[in-house]
Amino acid sequence: MSDKIFDIGIIGYGPVGATLSGLLSSLGLSVVVIEKNKGVSPTARAINTDSEQLRTFNFLNIAAEVIANSRNLKKVHFTDSQFNPYTTIDIPKEDNLGWPPTLLFYQPELETIIRNNNQSYKNLKILENTEAVNIEGTNPIRLDIRNNRKDSTIYCKYLIGCDGANSFVRKYINAKLIDFGFDQDWIVIDAHTTKQIDISKNEAKQICDPNRLKTYVPGRRNHKRFEFKLLRGESKKDFTKKKVWELLSPWINKNNSKIERAVVYKFHACIADKWRDKNIFIAGDAAHQMPPFLGAGMGTGIRDVLNLSWKIYLAIKGKAEENILDTYQQERAPHANWTIQQAKTIGEMMEQYSYREKGENYVPSNKGYGEVFPHLSKGYYGDPSDGLIATPFCRFDLDLSGKDSDEYFGWNFGLISKKKLTNEIDLILKKMNIKVLSVNDKNINLKNYFEDANYLLIRPDKYLFSRSKTNSELKEALSELEKQFSLIT
Ligand SMILES: Cc1cc2nc3c(=O)[nH]c(=O)nc-3n(C[C@H](O)[C@H](O)[C@H](O)COP(=O)(O)OP(=O)(O)OC[C@H]3O[C@@H](n4cnc5c(N)ncnc54)[C@H](O)[C@@H]3O)c2cc1C
Repeated sequence: MSDKIFDIGIIGYGPVGATLSGLLSSLGLSVVVIEKNKGVSPTARAINTDSEQLRTFNFLNIAAEVIANSRNLKKVHFTDSQFNPYTTIDIPKEDNLGWPPTLLFYQPELETIIRNNNQSYKNLKILENTEAVNIEGTNPIRLDIRNNRKDSTIYCKYLIGCDGANSFVRKYINAKLIDFGFDQDWIVIDAHTTKQIDISKNEAKQICDPNRLKTYVPGRRNHKRFEFKLLRGESKKDFTKKKVWELLSPWINKNNSKIERAVVYKFHACIADKWRDKNIFIAGDAAHQMPPFLGAGMGTGIRDVLNLSWKIYLAIKGKAEENILDTYQQERAPHANWTIQQAKTIGEMMEQYSYREKGENYVPSNKGYGEVFPHLSKGYYGDPSDGLIATPFCRFDLDLSGKDSDEYFGWNFGLISKKKLTNEIDLILKKMNIKVLSVNDKNINLKNYFEDANYLLIRPDKYLFSRSKTNSELKEALSELEKQFSLIT
């Protein structure tokens, strides 16, 4: 291999590594990806995505294609053993990001969409059938790789391990997994209907049957996902073909459906205590794992890589000090931690609901689904108790250009302003390369944001950094922005 030093090395071309490689390549960085397998993994593990991920996919111009190949979920029910709902969560068609908050996809297809788009980046090199076997040094990082028993070496300035649950990079940086004490065996069955049948198409069910917890999710087109908890003493070998069809009998049968796979998984919950060592990072399942009840494992990884992309870009381009990279784990780990807890809570709610048929009166304190993700615990200025600061900023259509606000700001820091700016602020904004959008009072999407404020600062990942009323308050927010992200202006 040549002595070229890539800006970025990524180990693992699963959904998280593929998204990251697209994001960084779209920013113009030179990227090399090392993946030990060839082609998209055929297993449809993740099935659910959300509006924040669609916003990320929109950075790659593939959100519309993802939506066109997905199904909108309208409701989730927690039910008794006979499918009578204990509680139902209605899912709106769109949230304030302008995307569906829950969308059901087929993972091999989603990964194909991401990979096909990645082919358009000339600065992205994908090495499949190639395993990363050794990491050395820091500046540059030396990566020893093996392809078909032939060893070679590549070099990169930054390395990101998107190498899944058994991450080799996580072990290399000596990160330990913090265990949440949740381990359950479930059999996951992917099936495809071959005929039109009467089966719920836009509603998922968490069936809290005291004899066995079950999940039904209608996938995109004819894909259907079923999950069944293993009972005490049961193991993989108990799930013969006959047994699997028996479990599926309330929904589908051999005459109207085909089984793609039935696999026993250990649902597990853990998070790494360290996500970075100098210029080496971990993201996705390498950094955290959770049971799939919330459908947020991959989503948490996609949030990681959006957070990391613009920070690495600024550091490489000399627009921010290396310290900006400390904010990656500081911002992402507490958020991921909440998500793992919430996924675990849903599993516990199913268990608790199941006791109702045994006469217990369980009343949950948590909705399970539709709970609002927490605001960032760092990386903002002002009071986040307004429910706006440190959360994803909305997306809205621009008045004249036909573009929307996400397209307008792209990867830039942004200022949305309702009032005139002083010359002094104007100069600071130019120096800091902040893109300005002037809006009027009538924009309905911005009503809450402009309550007692005239200026909104957003980050490149479209999280709201601050709301300010006066020019002098804005000046303070700008200086805080510079400080918190170690910007070089
Ligand atoms: C049953 C089930 C249902 C799920 N449902 C959802 C859901 O609805 N929504 C959701 O968001 N998430 C869901 N998840 C979680 C989701 O599938 C994972 O979080 C996601 O696939 C992780 O992606 P990743 O890219 O981080 O890791 P992976 O997909 O594991 O990819 C890691 C890649 O790294 C490669 N690799 C590893 N080591 C090396 C090496 N040394 N050299 C080269 N390559 C290497 C591997 O070959 C692999 O391709 C579910 C999971 C399961 C099991």
